[in-house]
Amino acid sequence: MLETLHRIVQAVNSAPDLESALQIIVSRVKKAMGADVVSVYLTDFESHEHVLQATDGLLPEAVGEVRLPLYQGLIGLVCERAEPVNISDAHSHPRYLFVHETGEKRYHGFLGVPIIQNRKVLGVLVARQLEQRSFADQEVTFLFTLAAQLAGAITHARTSGELASMQGTQEVMARYFEGRAGATGVALGKGVVAYPPADLNAVPDRPNEDPEAEAVVFVAAVANVSAEIQALCRRIGGSLPAEDRALFDAWLMMLDSDTLVTGTLERIRAGGWAPGALRATVEEHAQVFDAMEDVYLRERASDVRDLGRRILMHLQNQNSSTPEYPEQTVLVGEDVSAMQLAEVPRERLAGVVSASGSSFSHVAILARAMGVPAVMGVVGLPVARMDGLRLILDGYRGRVYASPPESVRAEYERVAAEDREISAELEALRSLPCETLDKVAVPLYLNTGLVLEASLVDDDEVAGVGLYRTELLFMVRDRFPGEEVQMRSYRRVLETFAPRPVTMRTLDIGGDKPLPYFPVNESNPFLGWRGIRISLDHPEIFLTQVRALLRAAEGLHNLRLLLPMISTLAELYDAKVLIRRAYDELVEEGHAVRMPPLGVMIEVPALIYQADALARRVDFLSIGTNDLTQYLLAVDRNNARVAGIYDDMHPAVLGAVHLLVKVGKERKCEVSVCGEMAGNPTAAVLLLGMGVDSLSMSAGSLLRVKRVIRSFEQRQAEELLEDALGCEDAAMVHALMQQTLEQMGLGGLIRPGK
Ligand code: PEP
Ligand code: MG
Repeated sequence: MLETLHRIVQAVNSAPDLESALQIIVSRVKKAMGADVVSVYLTDFESHEHVLQATDGLLPEAVGEVRLPLYQGLIGLVCERAEPVNISDAHSHPRYLFVHETGEKRYHGFLGVPIIQNRKVLGVLVARQLEQRSFADQEVTFLFTLAAQLAGAITHARTSGELASMQGTQEVMARYFEGRAGATGVALGKGVVAYPPADLNAVPDRPNEDPEAEAVVFVAAVANVSAEIQALCRRIGGSLPAEDRALFDAWLMMLDSDTLVTGTLERIRAGGWAPGALRATVEEHAQVFDAMEDVYLRERASDVRDLGRRILMHLQNQNSSTPEYPEQTVLVGEDVSAMQLAEVPRERLAGVVSASGSSFSHVAILARAMGVPAVMGVVGLPVARMDGLRLILDGYRGRVYASPPESVRAEYERVAAEDREISAELEALRSLPCETLDKVAVPLYLNTGLVLEASLVDDDEVAGVGLYRTELLFMVRDRFPGEEVQMRSYRRVLETFAPRPVTMRTLDIGGDKPLPYFPVNESNPFLGWRGIRISLDHPEIFLTQVRALLRAAEGLHNLRLLLPMISTLAELYDAKVLIRRAYDELVEEGHAVRMPPLGVMIEVPALIYQADALARRVDFLSIGTNDLTQYLLAVDRNNARVAGIYDDMHPAVLGAVHLLVKVGKERKCEVSVCGEMAGNPTAAVLLLGMGVDSLSMSAGSLLRVKRVIRSFEQRQAEELLEDALGCEDAAMVHALMQQTLEQMGLGGLIRPGK
């Protein structure tokens, strides 16, 4: 049964559309279970009915026609209970409903399982038998697993409008893909799909301009792969047994045969570009192997895919000129990286959409820093089909519209115009101080480092840099940067802001920030080797960086040093020893360095309970609410599936930050917040109520935060904080804050339009 399940799942995954996927399921399941009828009913949420959407056993003409009230009959019972219903004699069940339009006979055996996504019943998968039959446990779980597989495809068909046309319903509203708000603002532009090199699945469909030239490029790539395999065979073939050597021959034969080459060339001649044509051909052939009974032959599917990747790599090398970005580029990808975003010329970049990730992923942080709207974690986004499409991105609500109707377009053009008006109004705040109505000053600092140095802002607005992430300098190279390179880079930043303080955080790699030349393969990277843990295990890396930092500040003396991911006092102690060593060495070498103020990032919840001990040992505490929220709520900050639970307005997070600020005050140790929370105008009011010493945020958030702070009195913020801390969940806090800001005429800062 497992084997059958595996094959059905594969066939469903590669079906071109929902209709075919459903048909595959009903006919294969019927055969596998020996049932008389297998059908799928899908929920039409507008008419509150179940629509028979596929069947093997009932009248084919009933498909799309027969509609059942949502909660009636046995199908309705499955939907109501949201769990499997397994009845051996359905006919005698009080909820039995005879539907003669389907050509129904008097079926007895009934097994229905709900198709659920995000707690919502999207439909029912049902097997029926003429005789009495109680389906076995194994059969229940079999259907269950398939239903779970189907849920994703149905959600996708629903958002793309495919389901509406299958069900013949009017599209009463424009469909959109739902994700998480990544960076506020709206964007109207054209989709450009970003995909990782040699990732065949991620290659989008694009047209070619010259089929003959494209074909030549493709044939050359195949020839290169062929030469590579022959060389490989010569090099290691001699030491292999004959049956393994045959593998090389098989690959060469595949490369030579109709399998890959002819199919791809046909697609190229039909107008597709080579990588897209290759992807489609490889998938088509791999699926043929996938469907084979013979395990050995099935394995050939991975050979086909592997060859496809190799050819793609060569194609990409030949096409390695920078992709063309249209004006108003909306960058779309399965998992857009900060690097890919940085590659798009700023003047052409309108927005970014990532199928995975959350608003706390680094790409979203970068988007905010650049003032570019972003939508993250759009589960089920058909990325490969987004290239060249007109897209609208709503970075406030986390929505993406593909080829939207004119009415939606007009509405968003209006919102964009209002947003521009708000931005112009905010500009007027530039030279004004960031203080409350009753003149309590809240210094605003800049988070930077993720933006390439060339685009560093020299912003007089800010009191300094509250968080300089040093990772980028390490990420854009093919090896660790040396002391000189680092020193020059840090010095430029320190000079730009001098005499204002610049808080530089030592290397915080690991987690979602890997270095290409220092792979850390862990099953749980956010709980693994990251931040200070790596620095302490590799003192040579840490010492080089600290030396570079101290030297960079010579004569400027505006450096503050910040340690990431500290989880024990011992780590702080060890880091201090190394910093002292770097300092002593430099003094000995004749450098006029000074010991900079030292701070610790509070990202690990354990430190909430050791804040007092820490505050006595450092000059300042900087609360990294991005990670603190992740660890407090046990929610991966990049996982789109659980992004709904990740919320830095959770009363527990507010309580933790409040506690830390209180300890800081008692110990006269400065406390700032440098996580994304600080740049959220709503949260900033609550942080003001806590009495936090300063806020550090992306450049794009500065004016919005200044606007809210200038609208409140300290006491008012304190009262709001008290109410927020009394809330039982994040939703209540959001509602409270939203209502308050709307009443004060500040709603335009947190939602689209004025
Ligand atoms: C944080 O965790 O809040 C933080 C500022 O660090 P990063 O986002 O770089 O992990
Ligand atoms: Mg962090």
